[in-house]
Amino acid sequence: MTPQPQCPICEKPHPKKLFDVAEGQLLKCKSCTLVFYSPVPSLSDLLDFYDAEDYRETYHEGSLSGTKSADIRYQQICRYLHRQAPELLYQDRHGQYLDIGCGEGDLLKVFSIQGWEVTGTEISPEAARRAGEDWQRYIQIGDIDSLDFAKGSFDLISMYHILEHLINPVSALAKIVGWLKPGGVLFIETPNWGGLGAILKGRSWSLIIPPEHLTYFNSRSLIHLLRKTGYFRIKAYSSAPQFIQSLARLPVLLRILGWSVYHLSAHVGLGANLQALAFAPVADDQ
Ligand SMILES: [Zn+2]
Repeated sequence: MTPQPQCPICEKPHPKKLFDVAEGQLLKCKSCTLVFYSPVPSLSDLLDFYDAEDYRETYHEGSLSGTKSADIRYQQICRYLHRQAPELLYQDRHGQYLDIGCGEGDLLKVFSIQGWEVTGTEISPEAARRAGEDWQRYIQIGDIDSLDFAKGSFDLISMYHILEHLINPVSALAKIVGWLKPGGVLFIETPNWGGLGAILKGRSWSLIIPPEHLTYFNSRSLIHLLRKTGYFRIKAYSSAPQFIQSLARLPVLLRILGWSVYHLSAHVGLGANLQALAFAPVADDQ
């Protein structure tokens, strides 16, 4: 008998069916509000998918890759750290930084230039190869389950558009919190199921792309996941991505209007992306 789908975060049974998509269904947990794809694909199916030529080409040409995008991300994360964890930015020694799902290493390069000791992980050997010979030695190939780092290795870990791809986000985040030093910071960015685009477009939202995206978070389900997996002092934000290709084709006045609505929406929790900052526990949190 096929097992009944249950929420991958809170394990509650009997999720609400939203609609059929790809080879399965999109379901919504009635308890924590997580939206998730069922059935869950196998790891070997996913590895085949990510190493396929089509996926790599799409990633390489997409707005997530590139030096300009990495520079903007670095500046944004520094603004958050400045407010929430200034000791990480202004310490005497170099901070230890890990980027999970580092792709071609764009963020590793920016953090390294700024004086951080950098490490990346990447599921696709081909993407890591594209980082170039000088950078491949900083990148470990594998998924979160298969990799390991010593307890308390990192001051800062980032996961840009990785969470929604994971087969088991709970075991992954619970493992990652152990890689952080006490008081170290995890930064996550993931598409916002509670955002304006998702609300207006419904099932035709361009980011509903299983088996690539398996889970779809709003701020409530993201905070719930982080609490459950051992993080403290959690802050969630919504943000607008840096590039909006669909606006570029509009006449100039509509483009300005669209751009304004898009960026204002981020300030009221309706932005296209969710971001969260979460801290590994220190002695007082235990
Ligand atoms: Zn749930």
